[in-house]
Amino acid sequence: MKRAEIIAVGSELLLGEIVNTNASYISEQLSKYGVPVLYHQVVGDNAVRMRETFEIARRRSDFVIVTGGLGPTADDVTKAVLSDLLERPIVRDEEAYETIQRFLVSRNRLMNDGDARQADVLSGADVLPNPVGLAPGMWIAGDTTWLLLPGVPREMKALVEATFPKKLSGATLVSESLRFYEIGESALDDAVKDLLDGSNPTVAPYAETGEARLRISARATDEVTARQMIEEVKTEILKRVGSYYFGSDDETIASHLVQTLSRLNRTFAVVESLTGGEVQSMVTSTPGASVVFLGGVVTYSDELKNRYLGVSLDTIEQHSVVSKEVAYEMVDGLSKTTHADYALSFTGEAGPTSNSGRSIGTVYIGVKTPNGIEVIERTYPHQERNIIRMRAAKDGLWALIQ
Ligand code: ATP
Ligand code: MG
Repeated sequence: MKRAEIIAVGSELLLGEIVNTNASYISEQLSKYGVPVLYHQVVGDNAVRMRETFEIARRRSDFVIVTGGLGPTADDVTKAVLSDLLERPIVRDEEAYETIQRFLVSRNRLMNDGDARQADVLSGADVLPNPVGLAPGMWIAGDTTWLLLPGVPREMKALVEATFPKKLSGATLVSESLRFYEIGESALDDAVKDLLDGSNPTVAPYAETGEARLRISARATDEVTARQMIEEVKTEILKRVGSYYFGSDDETIASHLVQTLSRLNRTFAVVESLTGGEVQSMVTSTPGASVVFLGGVVTYSDELKNRYLGVSLDTIEQHSVVSKEVAYEMVDGLSKTTHADYALSFTGEAGPTSNSGRSIGTVYIGVKTPNGIEVIERTYPHQERNIIRMRAAKDGLWALIQ
């Protein structure tokens, strides 16, 4: 299978009432088998438009997966439309019919036409029994191979799990996302430009709040070979931009910091105003954080900064709460009470209006290391409140890794 396409059927998808999670799930699963998905289509429960959709898919794809519209109601027309298009009559599948009957008997219900229609399949199809529902799936092999799956996500997944390993063997696709900080997306692009047009492995850039990623994907007959191919490209990339790299896949700046400090057998603590607990949350969501993270406080008001950390109210009045001086006193006060080897403090103006008198996007981060205290100033102008907070949180954690 070289060109797969997924068609999700259901008017409720077009109305925006439900999100097309089926397509993303199936795409993800297909990538594990090295099958490239080139198109997603969504079509309502309308026979004419559904036929058009199927015709388009048949022309350009050799594997078409359709979800939805296999159920008992009148708007479930997927089978009828495909039956016409492929000129394969609809026949009743005895096994599916019996399963439905057994189910209805157990519920003390009589079978109606709709129930029975769920046992209808296209002639010649390989019928895929539904382990968690009534409507079976269908696999129809040909120049274009069709896979029909129920729309209900739980049933669709059960059938994918049962079918893909049997029908789609061969190539495996393995990926690794390398994550970078403080290098802009375009600088990263420039550094690895020549690697971006490879076909196997492929390297593709992505950007997120302050972060940049490179996803390396390799296709091979087995996972070990694919991983080796990834490793070679990764080594080359890290040779060029390794100083901005903090981890792969699910690793975060916080988890990198936790690992680094546990290796060094050092502790740290955090005091947050601007970030309101965000940094502590990032750190504590890393398993093993308790080995290095002593704890922290959120001091939002001037009064608590004074009471818990000994920040002088005069300093606040004289320099503004968003100032180098306050960030310094916050981190200094915290280190004195916690005796942490490393500590961070965050104060800043996140907007949307300025309460501190400082311009929106101004941030001060106190960084305490065994060498002393430094205060970093950052400005993130024209940014939205939560972006400013997230950027500050990541910049602080990143400063400790350097
Ligand atoms: P049923 O036997 O329930 O009628 P069906 O195969 O006919 O199953 P649909 O009627 O199209 O499937 O969808 C059933 C339910 O499954 C929908 O109401 C919706 O909640 C969910 N669903 C359908 N398609 C999708 C999709 N593409 N992504 C996520 N959820 C979906
Ligand atoms: Mg239905």
